[in-house]
Amino acid sequence: MSDLIDRHTFEKINKRASDKCTIIAVSKKQANEKIKALYDLSQRHFGENYVQEMCSKHAQLPSDIIWHFIGTLQRNKVKYIAPFVTWIHSVDSIPLLDEIELRTQQQQRIIQILLQLHVAKEETKSGLRIDEFQLLMQALQQKKYTHVCIRGVMGMASFTKDTDLIRQEFKLIKSIFESYKSITLPFVQWDTISMGMSNDYEIAIEEGSTMIRIGSLIFGKRTS
Ligand SMILES: *Cc1c(COP(=O)(O)O)cnc(C)c1O
Repeated sequence: MSDLIDRHTFEKINKRASDKCTIIAVSKKQANEKIKALYDLSQRHFGENYVQEMCSKHAQLPSDIIWHFIGTLQRNKVKYIAPFVTWIHSVDSIPLLDEIELRTQQQQRIIQILLQLHVAKEETKSGLRIDEFQLLMQALQQKKYTHVCIRGVMGMASFTKDTDLIRQEFKLIKSIFESYKSITLPFVQWDTISMGMSNDYEIAIEEGSTMIRIGSLIFGKRTS
C-alpha cells in the first residue's frame, strides 16, 4: 500500500514541521488509492482546489478526514462544500464570507477561515493586495458572524528559484499577520499562517508558518 507514497520524504517533512506546523496534504488530481495510503500513515488533513473533485473524494474516503479548501472559490459553489469542509484558505471578499456564513448556518456548523493575501510578483496568483486586505479587516468591525471563525492568513510566494525573494514574501505575510494580532472580535481567533508548498516549505517554516500545503512532494506528479 504505502509504496504509493514516498514514505521517506513524508517523514522528512513531518520532522521539519514538528508540532508547530500542520501539514496539509494537497491531494488535487491525485487518485483515491494514494490518498488512502497517506491516510494509513496517519495523515488526516487534506487540501483540494476544485469543488466537484473535493465533494466526490469526501463521499468516497474515510469520514474523519479534515478537508481544507485551498482553491479559488466561487460564491455559488459554497453550498456544495459547506456540509463537510473544515477550513477554507482562500477567502478574499466580504460577499464570499457572507455566503459562507449563510450556508454554514443552514448546516449548523462553523467553518475555519483564512484570508488569502497576494504578495507574489505574478499577476496570476489570487488573493487580496495589502490595501484590499486592510479594507476587509476594517469592514469586519461591522459584521456579526456566528458560523465562521477567522483564523488568520494564507499566502503564496512567487514561483522562483530566488530564495531571498521567497523569504521576503513570507516575511511580509508574517508581518501583516502580526499587525492584526491584537484584534478582538467574537468570530476571530487570530492564530494561523498558511504558507509554504513543496518547493518552499522549509523557508516558510523558518519564517513562522503554522500550516504548510504540500502536494507534489508527497504524492508525486499530478495527473491532469
Ligand atoms: C496545488 C497547490 C498547493 C500544492 O502545490 P505543490 O507545489 O504540489 O506542493 C498548495 N497550495 C495551493 C493554493 C495550491 O493550489
